[in-house]
Amino acid sequence: MKYYTLKYKPSLKDGWGGYARYWKIEIAEKYRDDKGLLEHEKFHVRCWWYCLAATWLVALVMYFVGTHGWWFPVMVMGPWMHGILYRNKYFRKLVEVRAYKIQINKGSYSNVDFAVRALSSKYKLGISESHAKKLLGLS
Ligand SMILES: [Zn+2]
Repeated sequence: MKYYTLKYKPSLKDGWGGYARYWKIEIAEKYRDDKGLLEHEKFHVRCWWYCLAATWLVALVMYFVGTHGWWFPVMVMGPWMHGILYRNKYFRKLVEVRAYKIQINKGSYSNVDFAVRALSSKYKLGISESHAKKLLGLS
């Protein structure tokens, strides 16, 4: 089952190569053949589905244990739960490190410095390049 939609665009904002929101992936035209990048974004979409499912499961449990109707706002929040968690630096670090590991693993790159640079500068994680290298298992 295909769990995402994919659109190629002439370019993405702020020079990003790929972008995932909810189940929708956008990739800049110049990265059309970058299999690793697509796998990176697909991982984000899988995380979004897992967050949605987990949130709805919590809402379902709340419904049955009876929490005075609080299950409903929790259920409604489902689609935004991943975005809310992603604002947290530690969650962002966890998922981006995993996403770049998948990207490096599935893409055919002769050099993976782009991943080290991106992790240490593009996600407001407050980490150095050497720390990023360590997180990616490259040093
Ligand atoms: Zn990412």
